This record gives sequence, structure tokens and C-alpha cells, in this order.
Amino acid sequence: MPEHVTSTGHQDERVLALLPTARDGERVRSILDGVGLGCVLCSDLAALCRELAAGAGVALLTEEAVAADRSGCLTEVLRAQPAWSDVPLIILARKRMDGGPAPFRESANVSLVERPVRMRSLLSVLRAALRSRRHQYQIRDHLAERERQEAALREKEEALRASDRKKDDFLALLAHELRNPLAPIRNGLQVLRLTDDPEVRERSQQMMERQLGHMVRLIDDLLDVSRINRNKLTLQITQISLADAVSSAVETARPVIDAAGHELIMNLPAEPVRLDADLTRLAQVFANLLTNSAKYTERGGRIVLTGRCEGDTVVVSVQDSGIGIPVDYLRTIFDMFSQVDRSIERSTGGLGIGLALVKGLVEMHGGTVSAASEGPGRGSTFTVRLPTVPIRAEVSPDQQKGRSEFHEGPKRRILVVDDNQDSAESMAEMLRLFGNEVDVAHDGVEAVERAGTFRPQLILMDVGMPRMNGLDATRHIREKPGGDEPTIIALTGWGQDSDRRLSKQAGCDGHLTKPVDIDELRRLLEAPKRT
Ligand code: ADP
Repeated sequence: MPEHVTSTGHQDERVLALLPTARDGERVRSILDGVGLGCVLCSDLAALCRELAAGAGVALLTEEAVAADRSGCLTEVLRAQPAWSDVPLIILARKRMDGGPAPFRESANVSLVERPVRMRSLLSVLRAALRSRRHQYQIRDHLAERERQEAALREKEEALRASDRKKDDFLALLAHELRNPLAPIRNGLQVLRLTDDPEVRERSQQMMERQLGHMVRLIDDLLDVSRINRNKLTLQITQISLADAVSSAVETARPVIDAAGHELIMNLPAEPVRLDADLTRLAQVFANLLTNSAKYTERGGRIVLTGRCEGDTVVVSVQDSGIGIPVDYLRTIFDMFSQVDRSIERSTGGLGIGLALVKGLVEMHGGTVSAASEGPGRGSTFTVRLPTVPIRAEVSPDQQKGRSEFHEGPKRRILVVDDNQDSAESMAEMLRLFGNEVDVAHDGVEAVERAGTFRPQLILMDVGMPRMNGLDATRHIREKPGGDEPTIIALTGWGQDSDRRLSKQAGCDGHLTKPVDIDELRRLLEAPKRT
């Protein structure tokens, strides 16, 4: 008889047979095949034991075979079964035997079938044995399922514990970070109480504003992340240009970049890239990445912001020459409260939520963000991918409305000041279409000069610009003879009260957030001059 002949059935349901002769074997096998039971014929007890260990529904063998098991391999295989398993053995015995063969009488799941065997009885015993085996499999599956559930529960519990620990750490950090600015603010108040010296008071006030600003930023970030997590943050989606979002971000991050003496290199596509996005939120994304690069790069480093289009996606990367990120942290760096445990993180006063915010905002825009670093000391690259929209050629009903109203309005001389050429040119174009005479300047110095020669009635003044910023340019213009004539409106990506206050202090008549709402602009133009 061959070692074994493969069965047709499933491994778990196999009938293993060790019969006295090859003829017996073949006969049994063909009958079992006929009723859909898969049978494996084994050549000897060792072969049967091997097959049993591999999985079977029932074993059919003779008492002589069992008696010949001197090495005890069958006993061993039966003993090695898992707790749920009690494989049925059908032993063909001679009439004179009572009970099972010696080794299994008590412990094994044995059915004795007297020889000579009647096929009908054998089949019924086999089927009953397979049924009992199936019950065992149900218990096995049930146990496995319970184990899986327990493992999943353990995993969840561990994750909850870890997040709880993180939250505790975070609360401690938050308390610390919020308390830090309080001491200088309290000192500042004392100074104000103790001196009338305007210079000292001014310095103290500026310091307090800085510290307060820091606290406000921390709290704003915290609120934003929690709003995103609770799906409570809504985006003000309009069609914006990538350049506007980036320039607004640069405006925000510039002080930190300049203070650390870093070089910022910008590489944006020449063609305008349009996005359906919330300008302020997208600017916040890039500002966070730029600020991180500035914070986590040694003095005098290099930050490169690159944008390129890939089909209908724009890929913006912020790359720095900084301290890098250890590979183990890359996977979790966007998690809430995640910080690489280095002294610099502790000294920068961050909370480890900026990148969670970045990820949340990018995903709300239908994009993705990823981090890469070759490791400590080798710089980091953060890459944001966002869907773009094709350039819209037709004019929206709002714009049409704006256009007709502007046509009816008086023709003005308008100076548009913006270091972003696309922004400046598109705004100038629009204002010309409204029937105005328009000139353009690209930085504060140029703006002061054009204001003197072109004599605009209205100046739209970008705030963050190279050489001289918009607020300083406004001050210079106002100081010159006739400088109080033009209406000056500050344009920035940020419309917070502090920004409005600053632009008003510098001499602006109004403050508009980009992208400019045409109706708002019109209202400002029609408003009486500075109060
Ligand atoms: P934080 O307020 O700590 O800066 P973030 O969520 O913005 O919080 O960043 C999380 C952590 O990621 C930082 O604490 C820092 O360890 C690491 N990280 C972020 N950006 C950079 C970068 N450009 N270079 C190196 N490490 C960075």
C-alpha cells in the first residue's frame, strides 16, 4: 500500500485509514469517496500518526495496528492534542475483545467496531464520529475567536492607557507652557505701575504683548485641533491661489525665520495654481511647517519651499537643513502631543499639536501630508499634496455684480502694493477692468516712491513684504506732504483684531483679509475718510 493517498475532502474532515490489506484499503476508500468522505490511506502506524498530527476528522485502524505501537507514537499524538481536541478513533476489533485496546481504554475517544465489518454500520459510526469532531471544531473556532477578541481588547486597553498617559503628560506640559508667559506679564504690569518713563513702559508693553501673543497662539492651536477632532471646524472655501496662501504663511513665519538667521528659498510654479481652499487655514498649514523648520534648524540654516504640479495635484514641500527626525518618530510625528524627546523641543515651548493641526487641516482640504528625514542632523522634509482646480475663465455672478457697481462708481487712481506679483497683477487687472487707473509696486520702498509720483487716491497695501513692510511704508507715506490724502487699506492673510489694530496704528484706513471680498472692498472705498 502506498504511504498515503490524498483525500478529496478538507484537511479537518479527513478519514485516516490504516487497514490490514491494500484491497481492504481501496475498497473502503472507494465506498467513502462514493458518499463524499475524503479518505487518506496510511501505510503504517507512523504514517497515520503523522497525518493525525497534520489534522484529521477521524482515524480508522485495526486493533493489531494499535497493539503493534511499541514506540507509543499514537499515545504521544493523542496526548499532544490541544484542549479542545479529542480526535475520534474507530478501531476494528475481533469479537473476543472487551473495551478498547489497552492504552486508550479510558483516555481516548474510541469506538469499537466488530469484525467482520458491515459497511453500513461502519459508515454510520464514521458519520457520528465526524459529527462529534465538528462540534470540537466549533469549540476550537469559538476559543480562537475569544482569544482574538481578548487580544483586540488588550490592544485597545493598551492604546487607551498610552493615550491617557499622553494626555496627562500633555496637561502637565500645557500648564507649564501657559504659566511661562504669566511671570513676565506680571513683571511687566509691575513695571507699568512703577515707572512713567515712556521708553520703559513701551518696552514692557511690547514684551507683554509678545508673551500674550504666544499664549493666544497656543490656545488657538489647541482649540483648532479639538474642533477638528470633534468635526466642529468649518472651512471657508473659496477659489484661492497657492501663491496667496504661501505668501500669507511666509508673512507669519518670517519673524521666526529672520530671528534665527535662516535663508528662505521659494520655488513656486510660474503658472498660477488655483485651489478650492480656505486661505487662512491653508496659510496656517504652511506657516506651521515653516515655523517648525525655523525652530528645529540651527542658526543660519536653509529652508526651501517648493511647489510643483503633478496632474491635478499640487505638491508643496518644506525642506530644511535642520536637526532632522529620528526614523522611529516619523510614523507618529503627526499624532496629537507627539514630540521627539530632545532638549530643543522642551526649550521651544511647543505643545506637540502643530503637526496634528497641519494633518487635520490638510485632510479637510482633501489632501495628504507626509514627513521624511534621513535621520538626526540630516534635515527634514514635509510634503503636502492638495487637489487643484482648473483656472476658471468665466466671471462669477458676484464678480459681475461687483463689476457693474464699480463701473458706475468714480474712476480712481489706485496703487496696488504686493510683493506677490501674481496677486498684485491680478488685483490691478481687476481694478482696471472696473475703470480705474492703476499702478503697481512690489515692496514698501517702491510703494513710498510711487505714492509720491503717481499720487494715488487709494492704496491697497500688502503688509508682509521684503525691504520695507506695508505698515512702515504706510507710516512713511503719511509723514510726507499730502500723505494723509490717499485712503490706505492694508491687505493680509490674517484678519485678527491685533492685525487690524497694528494697521490702524500705522495709519491705514481699513484692513482687508485676502482673498478680498469685492463687496467689502467697495464698502471701504465708499466709506468716509479716516476717523
Ligand atoms: P511642537 O509644538 O513641539 O513644535 P509640532 O506638532 O509642530 O509640535 O511638532 C511635533 C514634533 O515634531 C516637534 O516637537 C519636533 O520634535 C518634531 N518636528 C516638527 N517639525 C520638525 C522639523 N522641521 N525638523 C525636526 N523636527 C521636527
